[in-house]
Amino acid sequence: LEIASYSADTLLSLINDVLDYSKIEAGRFVLESIDFDLRRAVEEVTESLADHAFTKKVELTPMFSANLPEMVNGDPTRFRQIITNLVGNAIKFTEQGEVTIYLTLVESSPYRLTIRCEVHDTGIGIAPEVQARIFDSFTQVDSSTTREYGGTGLGLALSKQLVQLMGGQIGVDSKVGKGSTFWFTLTLATHKKISPNLTPCINLKGLRALIVDDNAINR
Ligand code: ADP
Repeated sequence: LEIASYSADTLLSLINDVLDYSKIEAGRFVLESIDFDLRRAVEEVTESLADHAFTKKVELTPMFSANLPEMVNGDPTRFRQIITNLVGNAIKFTEQGEVTIYLTLVESSPYRLTIRCEVHDTGIGIAPEVQARIFDSFTQVDSSTTREYGGTGLGLALSKQLVQLMGGQIGVDSKVGKGSTFWFTLTLATHKKISPNLTPCINLKGLRALIVDDNAINR
């Protein structure tokens, strides 16, 4: 039953990707414009992929810069879809180590703001000569990728289209055997009501702290 359920999910996400892709190509793709919580959106993706990371003993951590606004206005479904693609790949191509998602604010004006998301992994990495190609549709690093890891080579192409529709850019820095960092920027509208920044309400200055965790990034 698990295999049937997994296969159905894989097929469903493939069909959705193909439909989205052809909608974009036909110029029929409409982005939503609703208020959403940035941190919550990233945490939802992390929660949905945590089980897969845990099974592979890969540490999965989201990190947010302190100046990030709480609420923004844009298309949360597509925002989550891009992060799901990048983080899903990062976990898939990492055998040991960690996957970390960094979300930072690049610039903001009264009406618009630009955010940058980076997904770091300590996985197999990608050779320089194929890095530009992997954003093309149906492209994988080599044919053995499909045999070993599955996939269709459509996720990054779709992510690139979505990022561009939202006025951003996408790219990758990677070293074979060391890992990859996929990044993208997005321009979003500021939330109508100015949300207070999440600043700590207690002053920790001068206090001694003991921080214990087996993972360096969490520490
Ligand atoms: P899929 O994952 O379905 O094959 P994608 O378009 O998402 O398709 O990715 C295209 C190819 O880029 C992958 O098949 C893989 O070869 C390479 N790739 C993507 N992300 C990573 C990563 N984090 N580490 C190593 N290779 C990657």
